[in-house]
Amino acid sequence: MVKKLYISIDMEGLSGVVVGDHVSRTGKDYEWARKEMVREVSAVIDTAFKNNVEYILVNDSHGSMINLYIDQLPEGNIEIITGSLKPLSMMEGITSNFDACFFIGYHARKGTRAAVLDHTIFGRAYHKIIINGREASEFYLNALVAGHFKVPLALLAGDDKIVDEARSLIPNIETVITKYSITRYAARHVHPKVVEKILREATRRALENVDSGKVKPLTTNTPIKLELVFTSTALADACENIPTALRKNAFTLEFTVENIIEAYKVIKTASLVSSAILK
Ligand SMILES: [Zn+2]
Repeated sequence: MVKKLYISIDMEGLSGVVVGDHVSRTGKDYEWARKEMVREVSAVIDTAFKNNVEYILVNDSHGSMINLYIDQLPEGNIEIITGSLKPLSMMEGITSNFDACFFIGYHARKGTRAAVLDHTIFGRAYHKIIINGREASEFYLNALVAGHFKVPLALLAGDDKIVDEARSLIPNIETVITKYSITRYAARHVHPKVVEKILREATRRALENVDSGKVKPLTTNTPIKLELVFTSTALADACENIPTALRKNAFTLEFTVENIIEAYKVIKTASLVSSAILK
């Protein structure tokens, strides 16, 4: 039985969201998108509590990570992590004590054609993040972090492109398509109230899939070969100072790390260094 549930919620993959104004704190449509964030995660929380889940940890995983109106989430045995500079960032708080994890509002990796606001972790800094030869999306990276703690990713909600990737990598994952991306800045949306209904049904099924052992934690081989392909040679120059970095070419650094948690630390550090350079 799923007693403890972990939820990571991003914004770019929510229904209705297509442009920077929806997801930036100074954007004209940001307040609307924050409400959609509450709507989608609330449907999941409410359904999970009605299906025997006893504790839920929600991690605000977008941008500055202070997007959720926490007082508007359903009441119950729920805790919410907000704020950035978290060691595990989009997966802060995940431990082996959780029985399942869900991702909401997720989006495609940088370089995906016809995918709303495609990026990976830090769009201006990374052209690609490659894990053991596979180009990683935030979904892939974060599902591996959950897998490190033996927690299965049982539900993902987002645009059609990231749903395709999730289905191809995790057998029996429940997915909810919130919109069909047309280009980077356009999509055909499923009505937010319909998304809410589908999320409720998917949550019930996802919890059952974990109970019956149908959905397994995602893993990769260790040690991990991590490649960071930067958008500028200046970023590679600066991040080359991170211990153990190997300069593969003008744009690319390679690291060999013990596991996905160590990979995450390198990505986090390289992101902080990059943001100092990009200022
Ligand atoms: Zn985001």
